[in-house]
Amino acid sequence: MPVKVIASDNGLEAVRLAHDLIQQGEDTLEAVVRGVTLVEDDPNDLTVGYGGLPNEAGDVEVDAAVMHGPTHRAGGVAALKNIKHAARLAMKVMETTDHSLLAGDGALEFARTLGFPEENLLTEKARKIWLHWKRIRSRNDSWQAPKSEEDVDPEVLEFFRKRKLNYAGEPISEQNRPTGTIHCAGINSASDLSCVTTTSGLAFKVPGRVGDSPLIGAGLYVDNEIGSCGSTGRGEANIRDVCSFAGVELMRHGMSPLEAGRELLQRICRHTTEPRLLDGEGRPNFGVRFYLLAKSGEHAAVSMWGPTKYAFADENGARIEQCDYLFERQDKKRTGEHTDGTR
Ligand code: ASP
Repeated sequence: MPVKVIASDNGLEAVRLAHDLIQQGEDTLEAVVRGVTLVEDDPNDLTVGYGGLPNEAGDVEVDAAVMHGPTHRAGGVAALKNIKHAARLAMKVMETTDHSLLAGDGALEFARTLGFPEENLLTEKARKIWLHWKRIRSRNDSWQAPKSEEDVDPEVLEFFRKRKLNYAGEPISEQNRPTGTIHCAGINSASDLSCVTTTSGLAFKVPGRVGDSPLIGAGLYVDNEIGSCGSTGRGEANIRDVCSFAGVELMRHGMSPLEAGRELLQRICRHTTEPRLLDGEGRPNFGVRFYLLAKSGEHAAVSMWGPTKYAFADENGARIEQCDYLFERQDKKRTGEHTDGTR
């Protein structure tokens, strides 16, 4: 079985590194965690770890989880502040405690106990974007929107323009709300699988909000006999359908990774009924994606909206590929961005 690694489209370097490590004999979980650590360290990724966009109060709160196929063990951390390497900390929860998920101050205390360095994860760029969001979010508070484009920092302007938001803007809707995450899964030559998901979560979320990423069964799941599944995009939609667990179960009952992924998206469509979450044609107005890797080595990446991409590595190298998708965005200018609204 050739080694294979799949990730969200911000994971090209992650899949490259994880693939090389697995090829050299490294455990699949250690390899994917080392892969996503590259993205947690990257200040230019506004969706993960250091440089991630903060919550409503301006604090970066990260969520992460890991799952190890051969032992079926898992660990996670949620609503965690000031710790860059959340995926590694999630792995430590799995390795050094009897627990599956630590949250908030308890997770931070755990990180301190293990000697993880504490640092402010809010970069200048993320702070400026957050401040601009505060200024434009409502006409019913004391913050004033900038008077003209010239008053807006160019980096901030570029960020909001990419989301088709006016500098003095309409409020951010579900369709263009900045989100993003990295999920990464790998399989080795013995067909053992592991996966990891790590994120700074939904931008400007209510403090304490936990998304799908650190929840086993929602943000990721692996059954070493069947395969793995993980997600990025609107966590609230994914949590309600426990999609990563469901994706693995669908494969267990005979679906290919692509069929299973499409069925997950269809379930979300069927269960999305609130008008604020639907477009004019009754389709979910948000992005969500799944990355599936079967024990056979077959894989798929599916997205609610496309065209959009994912990262993959095998014996032919690391590359960016096109996701399968349910609905096509009319606005072609979005091509190449995360369809779940991120950079
Ligand atoms: N799934 C993440 C969350 O809901 C965000 C994302 O992937 O865009 O926190």
